[in-house]
Amino acid sequence: MSPQRSQNPSGRLSWRRLLGGLLAACLLLLLAVALSQGALADLLPSPIRNQAGFALHMIDVGQGQALLLTCGGKAAMVDTGLPDTSRQVTDYLLKQGVRQLDYLFITHPHSDHFGGARRVVETLGADVLIVPEYLSEEAALTTAGDWVGNTATPISVTQAGKQYALGEATITVLHPQAGNDIGDMNDLSLVLLVEYAGRRILLTGDLTENMEPALLPIGPVDVLQVAHHGSYTSSTQAFLEDVRPKYALISCGRNNEYGHPHNVVIARLEDVGAQIRRTDEEGTLLVRIVEGQIAVTSEN
Ligand SMILES: [Zn+2]
Repeated sequence: MSPQRSQNPSGRLSWRRLLGGLLAACLLLLLAVALSQGALADLLPSPIRNQAGFALHMIDVGQGQALLLTCGGKAAMVDTGLPDTSRQVTDYLLKQGVRQLDYLFITHPHSDHFGGARRVVETLGADVLIVPEYLSEEAALTTAGDWVGNTATPISVTQAGKQYALGEATITVLHPQAGNDIGDMNDLSLVLLVEYAGRRILLTGDLTENMEPALLPIGPVDVLQVAHHGSYTSSTQAFLEDVRPKYALISCGRNNEYGHPHNVVIARLEDVGAQIRRTDEEGTLLVRIVEGQIAVTSEN
């Protein structure tokens, strides 16, 4: 035993511990900073690649709408919520293992739908931003370009009849038609029919009763994103009797100032036998389709 060690063994040990602790703290700090900027996103495991079947996430963004669709390792978003909740949205996507969007659909030019788009493309990137024709194709491209800033995201103006593959799922645009002259922005909403394993999901943005008749018949669907957060100016009885959803999903804020969803719409949905699920009551909603079986769960 050396005299030095016998005189002060604990002192030498403390230095080593202190240095080790400092190093560990620095590494943790670096990791936290990198994670917060999404820089390590590519190194993390990707749960969506290993996920069986199809999933639709109606992310709780308060009074707005943000939907994530995943299938076969591919990911798409339909709307991104308000700017205020954009960080919440990107955190959610990263947590789900989404690293890049194959498609980003924005249903119409209202900020409770496009407000989070910029952060989403800056954080993850999207192969293409898809929007409805608005005034003209040129005007639509300019408007959509503002939503995603200087991110050089390719933008495509879509129309009824176009189809997009998401793994084994197919997304078909039902509305609006090419060359439309629709004045009301809500009525410009992209209406998307998602089909997977014989199941049908209808996404309607904020479409109102003005445009519903022209879409019929659509026929029964398994899941309906109830239009315009459950507003009484959408979801007419005739429309709901045609689509007869098993599940009716409503994205709206707790105690929102618009009174969404409206009691009239709730009653109409109940009349056609829909099971109503709401983000203001349950938080984020998750629809899973695995081996043809459909299930809806919530985070609360
Ligand atoms: Zn809206």
